[in-house]
Formats: sequence, C-alpha cells, structure tokens
Amino acid sequence: MRRFRALLLLLPFLPFARGMLSAAPAQRTARYQSAHFILTAPAGGDVGRLLDELESAYRDVQRYGLRMPARVEARSHGSTADFAIAAGVARFNLAAAVGARIELQPMSVLLRRGELTRALRHELTHVALAEAARRGLPRWLNEGMAMMVAGEMQPERITFVRLDRLEDSLAGARLQPTIRSAYGTARRLASRLIESVGQGSVLSFLGSVGSSGGFEEKFRGLTGKGSAEWGRAELGRR
Ligand SMILES: [Zn+2]
Repeated sequence: MRRFRALLLLLPFLPFARGMLSAAPAQRTARYQSAHFILTAPAGGDVGRLLDELESAYRDVQRYGLRMPARVEARSHGSTADFAIAAGVARFNLAAAVGARIELQPMSVLLRRGELTRALRHELTHVALAEAARRGLPRWLNEGMAMMVAGEMQPERITFVRLDRLEDSLAGARLQPTIRSAYGTARRLASRLIESVGQGSVLSFLGSVGSSGGFEEKFRGLTGKGSAEWGRAELGRR
C-alpha cells in the first residue's frame, strides 16, 4: 500500500526526471572567450559562429549609442528545457537577458532560426540598460529601446490608455495578442520620445538613470512632464 502511494506521487514528475537524466551526461561545459564575451557552452561544440554573431550584435548596440559593459557573460544551454528554466522565459524565445547575463538556447536551435541577429541585439540592449533597470527604468522604455535597436515591430491590436497598464502587460501578460500589442506600443512610445527630444538626449538620459537612478525626476527634466502624464498623452495619439 505504501509503495503504491509512493509510485503515484512519482508519476507526475517522471517526464521531468527523464529529461534531466537524458540531458545530464551531455552537460560537460567549457568556457570560450572572444573580445567582449565569455561564453559557457556544452564542450566540443563549434562556438565560432555564435561568438561572431554575439560580437556583431554587440557592435550594433554600441553603434546605436548605448554603453556596453567591457565583458558580457553568455551561456548556451544543452537543451531548450534547461534554457527556459535558467532564463525563466517561454521555450519559444531564442535568448533572454537575466540582469547583465545572456541566456541562450542550444546552438543548433540558435543557428537554425533566422531571427538570431535581432534577438541578440534586443537582449544585448537589455544588458546595456541593466543598471538603469536596476535603478528604476520602467519596462516600457527598456523594451521599447530594445525593439528600436533590434529593428523589431509588433502590431498594436489592443489599445492601452495608461502607462501602468502597459507596464503590467509587459511584466505578465499571457495572451499573444496582448503581449504583441504591449511590445508594439512600447516601441512606438520609445520612438516618439526619441523623435520629440532627440536620440542623443534620450541616450544620455538612459546613461544618467543607469549611474544614479531618479527616473521620474529626470524624465520630467527631459520632456517637461511626469511619465504618467506624458504616457497618457502619447498613448491617446494613436
Ligand atoms: Zn525584451
């Protein structure tokens, strides 16, 4: 009886346990280095092309005018499941920034999919803005800038009327149309901010939030309005 109950309890965990076991023997990792990256990846893989892609995306983010850290840690996982767990994101993502570190899908997945360059530019923008994010940069501007730098667009099917609602959707929306609309709106707002005060002013504002915080006060200095008020006006322009 006791054994029977233990078996029942184990059953739901079996697929997970099996995944872990089958992934485990291939998990010998090695560290590789390029000019700006320290990459941890399963040993023996051909990391040359991935490091080239990372370096090229790094240059693109720098060229846009964002300050990148001298060294970025990146980790390419042995399986999609390991990546999703380590990064805390859905399995369809190619890459994710966790603070100033980049978590990556297995190399075979990365190099097979066409959107790697954009995904790396997007995530490296988050790396460039990691300090600002830690000091209060809201998600709408963080994601909006990442989309601008990566040259990404998303359709705005849902209308947001307030910045805090947009912020909530960027943090935790589950439905694809809501997520896409939130990203599309964030991009439009970042683009509007750049149009209205100039790219140089936005970049030095972001740098200043990164070094000493004070987002709200500095945003007012930049636009003459608090962010909620500015957001309401811009969200209503659509
Ligand atoms: Zn993002």
